[in-house]
Amino acid sequence: MNDQPISDEAEAETGAATPMMAQYLEIKAAHPEALLFYRMGDFYELFFDDAVAAAAALDIALTKRGKHLGADIQMCGVPIHAAESYLLTLIRKGFRVAIAEQMEDPAEAKKRGSKAVVRREIVRLVTPGTLTEETLLDARRNNFLAAWAEIRGDGAVAWADVSTGELGVASCPRAALGPMLARLAPREVLVPERAAGDAGLDAQVADAGAVTTPLGPASFDSSAGEGRLCRLFGVAALDGFGTFGRAELAVLGALVDYLELTQKGRLPLMRPPVQEAPGGVMRIDAATRRNLELTQALSGGREATLLAAIDRTRTGAGARLLAQRISAPLTDVAAIRARHDAVEWLAGSRPLADALGDALARVPDIERALARLALDRGGPRDLGAIRGGLAQAASIADMLAGAEPPELVAGAATRLGGHDALIGLLDAALVAEPPLLARDGGFVARGHDADLDEARRLRDEGRGVIAAMQGDYAAETGIDSLKIRHNNVLGYYIETTARHAEAMFERKDRFIHRQTLANAVRFTTVDLSDLENRILNAGNRAIEIEKRIFEALREAVLAARGPLGEAARALAELDVAASAARLAVEEGWTRPHVEASRAFAIRAGRHPVVEQALRRQGAGPFVANDCDLSAEPAGPAPIWLLTGPNMAGKSTFLRQNALIAVLAQAGLFVPAAEARIGIIDQLFSRVGAADDLARGRSTFMVEMVETAAILNQAGPGALVILDEIGRGTATWDGLSIAWAVLEHLHEANRCRGLFATHYHELTGLADRLDKLSTATVAVREWEGEVVFLHEVRPGAADRSYGVQVARLAGLPESVTTRAREVLEKLERHEREGSPADLVDALPLFQARPRQAPAPAPAPAPKVSVVEARLRGIHPDELTPREALDLVYELRAMLEDKP
Ligand code: ATP
Repeated sequence: MNDQPISDEAEAETGAATPMMAQYLEIKAAHPEALLFYRMGDFYELFFDDAVAAAAALDIALTKRGKHLGADIQMCGVPIHAAESYLLTLIRKGFRVAIAEQMEDPAEAKKRGSKAVVRREIVRLVTPGTLTEETLLDARRNNFLAAWAEIRGDGAVAWADVSTGELGVASCPRAALGPMLARLAPREVLVPERAAGDAGLDAQVADAGAVTTPLGPASFDSSAGEGRLCRLFGVAALDGFGTFGRAELAVLGALVDYLELTQKGRLPLMRPPVQEAPGGVMRIDAATRRNLELTQALSGGREATLLAAIDRTRTGAGARLLAQRISAPLTDVAAIRARHDAVEWLAGSRPLADALGDALARVPDIERALARLALDRGGPRDLGAIRGGLAQAASIADMLAGAEPPELVAGAATRLGGHDALIGLLDAALVAEPPLLARDGGFVARGHDADLDEARRLRDEGRGVIAAMQGDYAAETGIDSLKIRHNNVLGYYIETTARHAEAMFERKDRFIHRQTLANAVRFTTVDLSDLENRILNAGNRAIEIEKRIFEALREAVLAARGPLGEAARALAELDVAASAARLAVEEGWTRPHVEASRAFAIRAGRHPVVEQALRRQGAGPFVANDCDLSAEPAGPAPIWLLTGPNMAGKSTFLRQNALIAVLAQAGLFVPAAEARIGIIDQLFSRVGAADDLARGRSTFMVEMVETAAILNQAGPGALVILDEIGRGTATWDGLSIAWAVLEHLHEANRCRGLFATHYHELTGLADRLDKLSTATVAVREWEGEVVFLHEVRPGAADRSYGVQVARLAGLPESVTTRAREVLEKLERHEREGSPADLVDALPLFQARPRQAPAPAPAPAPKVSVVEARLRGIHPDELTPREALDLVYELRAMLEDKP
């Protein structure tokens, strides 16, 4: 219900704001950076510029209402019940939203005077990094809020997922921030105001897909931060959680401060901060992540990623944990092996693993339900999720009880149980399928609360109860024709004929006279008016009782939050291990041997994503390949120089080895017959010639910037994958750069590496660099066509077969014939002549047919199927969807070509 006009005539004349407009402006002034959702009855209304921006972003009507300072007040609104979906759109479009609720009943306000305005307050600031609603979140990904700062040269980053309670912190100098943000993929990053103008920082945040939120120095004050953390966790000192540096305290403190600000004092349930040891995870920079498509494809989607290819988890929490593990492979041998033990054990216990998988499939998202309940945004469905999750956890604990699982599984099993009392309470209190919101009631099970049952009975069976009372009175008075009726004036009343009324008048103590009509007399009783009141109030009372019960259940759940969070983590841990085990069995993957050495020996390795794609397309089997880059403890590490025709499978081979390392150190099995991997502490992967037009850098510049980063950073524990470095410039420049880079990697970086190139000249380096080996991807030539074998063998490719591949791609035959001619001449000239002679020897392509006297009739150019299809197309008439289908069709034609 609206309380007041937003503006009135008087305001238009005097220029003074109405009380409501004054309230609006005051609230708005506190959060100028956010759109203000101003609650008015069943709507959130937006005014002025907020309305203009929101109407455009949400595609809803912009209206006008009254005037302020002589100008129209622009306005738009969204209904409360649909507010979440509008919020989602606004947050996705980069807005922040402040929600101002009515803090009292309009009737209360009226008591203060007819002009009094309903009290309103901002109850929450909705920002991308602080979401908790199911509809606003991706169930299978974390929603991190990060904070970064540097104090006296020490940098640190902290991250929190409000929707799950995870909190982490690590030291992080400025130079390491980009890779860190790429790993966490936060939605929002808090930075000190003084750092906010740093364009490089903003670009890194934007690259990670996040928005920057600058905060004042007070938010990042390390001493204040320490205090906030102590208050959050209810401890006197943080020593129990670890020893934190000033920068770490500052960023953790900034996170807590921001949570207090956005949640308006209601603090989410956070677990104590997990401090990441320096060097504890494999360093993978943003370009490498992009390039290897670990969790996000180059195209931006998620389908063709490593994560998508390996994710067989059954729960949202399991999927989130797996994504974290793939994003941050470990470097600690013992911790990695513990994960492998768990996978191996489950892979070897199929019936148990299947039963575990089935039980996990029924586990709801305990972490997120708990987070919502803690912030008072939860509903009965969240209580139901906790009940369901705990029940499954208990049955999983039973399942594992008889077995003798390895440490990780056993540890998880011990954290699952012990909630029988809570399960019993929730089970008894809740219906089977509780609704989303507590508001409308209907979630408390029958038999749980006698008052509630009575209230519901009255509400639902009012007529029946009245009928029963009528029967009782008829029996009591002996008047069979006595009726209980209802009208709007009297409410419920007992009616009898005038003839029978006498008997009732005699019992004044019991029957109270209300009205006498011509042929009827009406009475009431204390019981009847009591019943009437109860019937009228029963609906409201039932809801009130349910709300009270909801609160009690919520408190019971929150009282057990610590162990509940532990159980949720344990379930996620089991889910990840079970997922990896299922994958290993179904795909024939094996346990890698991870050790503290500089070994890297893969036998019959495969590319998980390409292999699955080939299978889906019904294309030939994936050809497995070996790779051995094992190094002596101190000496230079082997680097393989890989040459081979286009399309032979060089890039696939390079990437599959990097992915095997990621999988192994993430604690999963690998697509190889055998793998022995000495810990890799840094992983680099680059492809030559990738444009970055968005940042205004040319192809070649990007390539060189990224190559420089590798040469400056890669140490002896690194694995470096370089694909076609030097491709983005003229041949001789490119070759020279590739040459020098290869020498540097071998001599200075001394890292393990794979280097794919088209510059066959580089293979000559193998004679000079003792740890450089050459390998090639085999092809066979058959009737002038090239047949790809996808086999990696020792040795060098003799040529690129570029012209053949171009022919396969459907280049007109006249062009490929000419190209072959040019190639032959070029090769001859390289051996014999000078470049100046070359141009003379190669008259221009177009000139030749016209100038040639009486040419022999040129063979009609053979039109390829692809070309023919393309000619029949009118691009302007294609929808984007049709265009995409066409690309698939053209692509399929290529595959069909002999
Ligand atoms: P270019 O030099 O043109 O970049 P490339 O040598 O790097 O080519 P890839 O892109 O790795 O070649 O592979 C081309 C295609 O060959 C892949 O998309 C895949 O379909 C197929 N392929 C690659 N490796 C294998 C393999 N080991 N077994 C089967 N098919 C493979």
